[in-house]
Amino acid sequence: MTRSARPLRARIHLDAIRHNYRRARSLAPRSRALAVVKANAYGHGAIAVARALAGEADGFAVACVEEALELRDSGLQGPMLLLEGVFSPDELALVDRAGLAIVVHCREQLDWLLRARPNRRLDCWIKLDTGMHRVGFEPSEFAEVNARLAACPHVGERVAMTHFARADETAHRYTSTQIVTFEQALSGVRIGRSLANSAAVLAWPQAHGDWTRPGIMLYGVSPFAGAAAEASASGLRPAMTLESALIAIRDLAAGEPIGYGGRFICERPTRVGVAAIGYADGYPRHARDGTPIAVGGRLTRIIGRVSMDMITLDLTGLYEARPGDPVELWGQTVPASTVAESSDTIAYQLFTGIGRRVPLIHEEH
Ligand SMILES: *Cc1c(COP(=O)(O)O)cnc(C)c1O
Repeated sequence: MTRSARPLRARIHLDAIRHNYRRARSLAPRSRALAVVKANAYGHGAIAVARALAGEADGFAVACVEEALELRDSGLQGPMLLLEGVFSPDELALVDRAGLAIVVHCREQLDWLLRARPNRRLDCWIKLDTGMHRVGFEPSEFAEVNARLAACPHVGERVAMTHFARADETAHRYTSTQIVTFEQALSGVRIGRSLANSAAVLAWPQAHGDWTRPGIMLYGVSPFAGAAAEASASGLRPAMTLESALIAIRDLAAGEPIGYGGRFICERPTRVGVAAIGYADGYPRHARDGTPIAVGGRLTRIIGRVSMDMITLDLTGLYEARPGDPVELWGQTVPASTVAESSDTIAYQLFTGIGRRVPLIHEEH
């Protein structure tokens, strides 16, 4: 959606995404970086984000062939990886035509690829399960899987990859164990390596390998808990400003409840603002009283339960606030990660949950 009657919109700062991509590259200077733009670039608009990075990204990663074809149809070239590979053998014809690289994480995918008759050599990323225990071959299977792919005339470049379960816990040994398991499986084999998500780009230099796969950091959010400070410390810029406006203001006496279920009871005479955004737009319904929000650049707090189309906030002390004033849900002033923590979720879910009726406005600066 590009226009809407409501004042609600998500401004996407494409220059910030480029800055964050460069940051990921400079943190892992000997690696190439696949920009992860799955799930509509974490809600930021995949085509616009990929175009903004087209001049400099080493490649892109998406979850499925539909996401890849959307980008190819928009004119985007260069390496593009399907992070879950294909879901059926028929898809390999699309992969062939669009020149995509595929993850191979199981026996079925391996057989489909070996039996395919593509017109070009297909690049493939062999996924190993080193501890995430979701998908991937056992480390002990690597040598055999790799040898079969190496012997197949229509398989092109091969890369070995794995994914971390706890890379955001910078003091935890689990990531080190995963790295060792991966290197042991590959020992003696000359093959490209890819291990690092954003957390590993930032915190596990020994896992940078030949290709990194930054996602959330491109959008300006640190993958670590207590993320606000970390994000600025690691030089990331928020890429999304979710903003709306005040549509009503009222004064309530002490003791009056606000909204559904009367969750918030005014502790004192309270000026309440109403902003046009609700959970149908992707603002988390579980946001607690006290979740930060900014009105005209000044921080205040959510009070009362989030409704489908509206939220209520505390304007006490913000005497100059008027209907129509801008309200920032997250962005420069309110870190998305803080709203996420205050709602028992993560910024990934907030971004990918932005509703269909929120226009994305792409800006260069
Ligand atoms: C989504 C994804 C990433 C990106 O993870 P972030 O935490 O957003 O950096 C990297 N690798 C794989 C396999 C993924 O699915």
